[in-house]
Amino acid sequence: MEQVQGACDNCGAAIVANAAYCDKCGARTRRARRLVRLAIRVELLFFLLVVGIVIGFTWIYSAQR
Ligand SMILES: [Zn+2]
Repeated sequence: MEQVQGACDNCGAAIVANAAYCDKCGARTRRARRLVRLAIRVELLFFLLVVGIVIGFTWIYSAQR
């Protein structure tokens, strides 16, 4: 569902295709905001993975005693 954004949500200026920011006011385009949300999600997933590994190793070491 890739939807091309024609105008800035903030100031209404025309936006270049696939631009991350508005030329006029500097606001993020919808595409850039989606990418940021995706990056945050990936980061969170990675963090949870690391936490899971640490908890898993802690559990394994405590179970060995
Ligand atoms: Zn703008």
